[in-house]
Amino acid sequence: MRTALVIGGGPAGLMAADVLAEAGIRVILCEAKPSIGRKLLMAGKSGLNLTKDEAFDPFMRQYTGASEALRPMIAAFDAGAVQDWARGLGQPVFTGSSGRVFPAAMKASPLLRAWLARLDRLGVHRRVRWRWRGWDGAEAVFETPSGRQTLAADATVLALGGASWARLGSDGAWAETLRGAGCDLARFAPANAALSVKWSHHMRPHFGAALKTVGWRAGNLTSRGEAAISARGLEGGGLYALTPALRQSEALFVDLIPDQPAEKALARLAQKPSKLRLGHWLKNTLRLPEAKTALFFEMTAGALPERAAWVKTIKTLPINYAGLRPMDEAISTAGGVRFAALTPGLMLKARPGVFCAGEMLDWEAPTGGYLLTACLATGRWAGLSAADYLAAAA
Ligand SMILES: Cc1cc2nc3c(=O)[nH]c(=O)nc-3n(C[C@H](O)[C@H](O)[C@H](O)COP(=O)(O)OP(=O)(O)OC[C@H]3O[C@@H](n4cnc5c(N)ncnc54)[C@H](O)[C@@H]3O)c2cc1C
Repeated sequence: MRTALVIGGGPAGLMAADVLAEAGIRVILCEAKPSIGRKLLMAGKSGLNLTKDEAFDPFMRQYTGASEALRPMIAAFDAGAVQDWARGLGQPVFTGSSGRVFPAAMKASPLLRAWLARLDRLGVHRRVRWRWRGWDGAEAVFETPSGRQTLAADATVLALGGASWARLGSDGAWAETLRGAGCDLARFAPANAALSVKWSHHMRPHFGAALKTVGWRAGNLTSRGEAAISARGLEGGGLYALTPALRQSEALFVDLIPDQPAEKALARLAQKPSKLRLGHWLKNTLRLPEAKTALFFEMTAGALPERAAWVKTIKTLPINYAGLRPMDEAISTAGGVRFAALTPGLMLKARPGVFCAGEMLDWEAPTGGYLLTACLATGRWAGLSAADYLAAAA
């Protein structure tokens, strides 16, 4: 019986193991951490946004430069398929108002438990605390509690994750090993990252407050999502969508009244007495929540706008930020194994018989379910390609 090795117990690796075992192949799944799916469980803490209920083309546009490479994989396992798969594991799903799809349980543990039980039934052998260290000739080398171990396999799927939240397992250390094996990798960079802002003490009472109904702009990217003020800066989906521009240190602007056109705000202001104070206008005319007003004054401190520029300033308030938060804090990472280093079946050109999947591939997307969908779809694609490879070699 042919043996496949799947290394990395995140959603991409579990999906690869699933389809390989389903194809009748003996599967050994090795994970460096003491348990499987730690990042998936962490994603569950915010409800586990599995996918987005959205038409296929706009869905694919979210993968920007990698959308063409990912297209066949996600077409074969799209947002509808992700929902069917979750239901198949006994997890009903629901779609929120923004189209985001979540399991009804709003966490990952029941889904992960059901998935592992399914893999057990399919006969997948699991080894935890097995850290892959590269190859010795044809054999994969692992660091294990009982010392160095090697495993021979007829095909291998690597699903080692990106390079953030290292404590959950995805430390990106595999990149050096693959580079050494002749694979072309793009440098890791934070994606879906929070911003560092050096706040004055005036902002302290607003730490934890949400900025809702705002419009963000950086470079040629825009977003209408929320963000929260934290002690370290600003975080949240509204800003994560702009990470590619913020990585290039593009100027960031926020529109604090995005639903009010500038002309309308100007007309309303023109009706107000000339002695109207800025703070009064923000609070009583525009009825800005306290956190928005505080942000306005924080960012204009030292140079309060003249009345003629109030509307322009509130609609394009520059956010003085001190860069992105460190990569390890990012929800996901850009960079990794370049598609040019892979066959259309996600096999490493430099190492036939070795396939790659999940966040370790060079793609990025905003939050909204796009990350897990691509991890599941590429895990499935790599697993099926490995099964085809084994069948062809038989
Ligand atoms: C706080 C947070 C919230 C998130 N929320 C969402 C969400 O709601 N929706 C969404 O779509 N995405 C979300 N994500 C992103 C999503 O969780 C990841 O994109 C996804 O888990 C990546 O899957 P993966 O299988 O490629 O890698 P991972 O899940 O990172 O799994 C890789 C596995 O490989 C193991 N590994 C690494 N190196 C080795 C080695 N040398 N030997 C053996 N094993 C190794 C790791 O321990 C890890 O278990 C969130 C991420 C975070 C951090």
